[in-house]
Amino acid sequence: MRVGFIGLGIMGSAMAMRIHMAGFPLIVYNRTRSKTEPFAKQGIPVADSPREVAEKSDVVIDMVTDAPDVEQVLFGPNGVVYGAHPGLIVIDMSTNSPEYARSFAERLAKYGVEFLDAPVTGGDKGAREGTLTIMVGGKYEVFQRVKPVLEAMGKTIVYAGDVGSGQMLKLLNQIVVGINMLAVAEAMALARKAGIDMEKLYTVLSTGAANSFTVQYYMPKMMKGDYEPGFRAAHLRKDLKYVVEVANKLNVPLPGTALTLQLYNALVARGLGEKGTQALLKLYYELMGHNEQ
Ligand code: NAP
Repeated sequence: MRVGFIGLGIMGSAMAMRIHMAGFPLIVYNRTRSKTEPFAKQGIPVADSPREVAEKSDVVIDMVTDAPDVEQVLFGPNGVVYGAHPGLIVIDMSTNSPEYARSFAERLAKYGVEFLDAPVTGGDKGAREGTLTIMVGGKYEVFQRVKPVLEAMGKTIVYAGDVGSGQMLKLLNQIVVGINMLAVAEAMALARKAGIDMEKLYTVLSTGAANSFTVQYYMPKMMKGDYEPGFRAAHLRKDLKYVVEVANKLNVPLPGTALTLQLYNALVARGLGEKGTQALLKLYYELMGHNEQ
């Protein structure tokens, strides 16, 4: 199976490399060409457009930022649909919404292209190590066909159901991811003022009932004042916006998510959107009147 990969950002570059390491013939594309250099150095072909990727692949994976970006690489000038051929499968692995997934599937069907939504969780660490959890929506038989490719990137692959249900599962996941970060930042903010040693707080949180990926992976970075992404704050804000949109439609009150979204809005407004989600701690320090580290 020839695989094409579009979007070599923090996640996409690591995921595409796993596909290469698993032995699939690979072609890559990135809007900013310089990010393709590590691939070219390994002899992996670099395409000039999403169209060329589609022409030369059986499966096209995209891992871009948001729905308008998926729109751009699929349907924009020199987009995937212009290189479409019978049997082509597109897998959108970025996080957006069930509604967008259903619309991409419908529009691609007009070109004879199959579509799966397959967002991921597990962070940049999971992408590098090939241990992501992948949630897949779409036709079961299409999922079965591409499963070996997904297994090159993830350890846990969950078939969620109809198209859009991968994105729905991912949005549910982001409720927990977002509120987890809020909790860790709050504990650290109070600990600082209360004069509690952060190492001791880390030992307690990471071994007891409060343990989580956020504690294990992000808290050590926060303790060092390392706010580089990982997972960009602007991207979590995007995800929480989609969560609130779906909840509003279904009349489900999500006060925790709504609050977390407002804090991430503040973070983006403070110019910290390109920092990692753990930069939420900076906002707490600002609210406390601390000029951080
Ligand atoms: P990133 O480092 O910001 O990379 C984004 C990629 O998308 C870049 O390759 C960028 O190209 C490309 N892109 C964006 N807009 C584009 C457009 N209009 N046309 C063509 N290419 C475009 O982001 P990331 O962390 O890899 O995240 C990618 C997706 O995965 C997001 O939906 C995010 O929410 C999701 N996600 C992230 C994590 C994480 O921990 N980072 C975990 C799970 C899911 P350029 O290089 O040209 O900018």
